Amino acid sequence: MAFVTYSYSAPVSQSLFERAAAATPGGVNSPVRAFRGVGGTPRFMVSGKGPYLTDADGREYVDLVCSWGPMILGHAHPEVTEAVQQAVARGTSFGTPVEDEVALAEEIVGRIDPVEQVRLVSSGTEATMSAIRLARGFTGRTKVIKFAGCYHGHVDSLLAAAGSGVATLGLPDTPGVTGAQAGDTIVLPYNDLDAVREAFAAYPREVACVITEASPGNMGVVPPLPGFNQALKDLCSADGALFVSDEVMTGFRVGERGWFGIDGVVPDLMTFGKVMGGGFPAAAFGGRREIMNHLAPAGPVYQAGTLSGNPVASAAGLTQLRVLARDDFAVYGQVDAAARRVRQMVTEALTKEGVAHTVQTAGSMFSVFFGDFGEAGVTDYEAAKRQESFRFTAFFHAMLAQGVYLPPSGFEVWFVSAAHDDAALQRIADALPAAARAAAEAVAA
Ligand SMILES: *Cc1c(COP(=O)(O)O)cnc(C)c1O
Repeated sequence: MAFVTYSYSAPVSQSLFERAAAATPGGVNSPVRAFRGVGGTPRFMVSGKGPYLTDADGREYVDLVCSWGPMILGHAHPEVTEAVQQAVARGTSFGTPVEDEVALAEEIVGRIDPVEQVRLVSSGTEATMSAIRLARGFTGRTKVIKFAGCYHGHVDSLLAAAGSGVATLGLPDTPGVTGAQAGDTIVLPYNDLDAVREAFAAYPREVACVITEASPGNMGVVPPLPGFNQALKDLCSADGALFVSDEVMTGFRVGERGWFGIDGVVPDLMTFGKVMGGGFPAAAFGGRREIMNHLAPAGPVYQAGTLSGNPVASAAGLTQLRVLARDDFAVYGQVDAAARRVRQMVTEALTKEGVAHTVQTAGSMFSVFFGDFGEAGVTDYEAAKRQESFRFTAFFHAMLAQGVYLPPSGFEVWFVSAAHDDAALQRIADALPAAARAAAEAVAA
């Protein structure tokens, strides 16, 4: 089987993983990194440069994960690195306001019209958690509507049917989240407006907010059907609930104004992370001033963070956003073109081997679902779960063995960067025929 054909030893990673497993549950600090969905030894990386990663065994890979999105300029971008080095030399944390965090906030407010004010935090999880608290504090209501397959970080109340990480591990539910924490969360099928209408009808004026990924990437790429986000916003407005658009993944990734720049739907609150941190722990939530003013110390809803607006993270994020803004945001054209080329090459290689699949796209984000999904493609989590994961596993290992690092789960986005040049794309092209063959020959376990 392909899994056997393409497995090879990674002795240093293997021994590091054994050490890690003794000191850390499952050997990792974030579950998907453990390769549980595909089997085998996770690669410990020691360095990255542009589109490439080098692992502890000295093997080089073209990186199609890009740290799950943030590294849109490629690894160790010279200007971001320089800004970080200068910031570090000035001191790494003061516990006071600093200018760079203001500049980063201004960069976000200046670019994303619906965000009149923004609060910086350290992770996407914190951003969505705080946005939900603020929505509840502002509306005085308790219930939250989310969609199956959408991931908003590991917020207790939002972990129900949360997509990739949970799906990869096959956990039916998350122990440790109480009935009370989950009880106010209403989980609905994605892209199903009738379900949303019914929920509002069942709980009139009880819903604090609807939270959705602006264009979901955590069940693989499953874009909103035309009009879906606008209809959500309208249903929220009619009921007095807030519409929260989670752009932690899409923000500053699918374009300079994120998914908002693509569909133009105006949310009440938005969340950001990943790209805006430039590879550091920086994230944000923001929206209408009238709502944001409810946050402490301006208002009564408490929210805080020892390292929020950290000077090094702010310098990294600010520099990355400024580089992205250069020449009228020309970088996005490069990222889109690289993504388009990879999509074409993958489709060609899989089609040649007769492997049924569908490639779904949201800006430069895309993912490949193995299996036959008909005309409609994958429009919700139930469909995403019907993918032929055994084919992805074979494909993944064949690519890995040939030096292409894909996300180790069929429920994840493939990310490219502006550094993915012709040489990097050629390496992907060279690896694809054998990987497509492995996918074709794979048999369900
Ligand atoms: C990654 C992600 C989060 C969580 O961000 P962390 O920084 O990992 O906590 C939240 N929402 C979406 C849409 C994400 O993709």
